[in-house]
Amino acid sequence: MTSLRVRPVLAAVVVLAAVLAGFLLAPTDPTRPVSADVAARTINDKHVIAISVDGLNPRALKKLGRAGTPNLHRLIKDEGAGTVNARAQLELTITLPNHTSMVTGRRIKAGKGGHGVTWNDDTVTKTVQQAAGHDVDSVFTQVHAAGGTTAVYATKSKFWLFERSWPKAVDKNVIQVEKNGAVVKALRDDLATSPASFSFVHLGKPDQMGHKFGWMTPKYLRAVAKMDKLIGTIIAQVESSPSLRTSTVIVLTSDHGGVPGTKNHVWKKNREDYRVPFAIWGAGVDRADLYAINPHRAAPGRSRPNAKADPQPIRNGEVANVSLDILGVDAVPGSLWDAAQDLAWK
Ligand SMILES: [Zn+2]
Repeated sequence: MTSLRVRPVLAAVVVLAAVLAGFLLAPTDPTRPVSADVAARTINDKHVIAISVDGLNPRALKKLGRAGTPNLHRLIKDEGAGTVNARAQLELTITLPNHTSMVTGRRIKAGKGGHGVTWNDDTVTKTVQQAAGHDVDSVFTQVHAAGGTTAVYATKSKFWLFERSWPKAVDKNVIQVEKNGAVVKALRDDLATSPASFSFVHLGKPDQMGHKFGWMTPKYLRAVAKMDKLIGTIIAQVESSPSLRTSTVIVLTSDHGGVPGTKNHVWKKNREDYRVPFAIWGAGVDRADLYAINPHRAAPGRSRPNAKADPQPIRNGEVANVSLDILGVDAVPGSLWDAAQDLAWK
């Protein structure tokens, strides 16, 4: 008898506790309130967030579809200016060399004016300048010289290379090994309070799962879907405030793909390795096929155009100079990819 009276009260307490716990932990709302003046801290009234999804073979987008990768679809196909047929660097389809090309706008081979970073681990403690044999500028040094701020959020320890090479120009360096959620949270917190003019985000999980279980396997695909969700929280944070929404542009690409069924991506002449996505999304950017609005670039079909090809395909190494173009800053001195800053993004 008494239980009939007590039960509703208990139930109410349980429900209330659950609601309170949910409210306090706030796992449902990924965005944080944005302070009013975030847009005042940048240059050209713009913020650029460059995102590299490590080992993203565009085949995964097709396999998972719009339902499985809604946010990557928004950036690359539905809302941004994008392509799934950009190219990695010619010399090597591995992580650190390709990312160094993204931030310097240079090719890899030092003898050909490249940055010279050919290693891919954290045991080498050289700087980019030591690898090249001379001074090397980057998107970080250019943004900094123009009065802007920069930040790096990365999930592999080898990314210390950037701060080591440009210590005065990398204002913030968040490296959390294999913690994709943590680095994205750090970025989102900074977007809410003091976003850098240029943020570089490296998400490593697809590559990690590819090496462990094989490219295009269920576990690899699950990692891609998870990165899509994280990117969705970045988009939500950007869209949560008018000042960020009207000032922020995302540049998305990848360092390399990976050969389905294998646990590697070192075969630079294999299309599964050298084909990567490239997309620009956000303030002032309309939906477009990136090749259609860029007569100075040529869609390569299935081919692997060499460095002498004219016009060139769109390459992942264009991240630095297109980001600087969006920020109204001159190209990186000594760079090659998009050195004329003629890659149209709107
Ligand atoms: Zn890898």
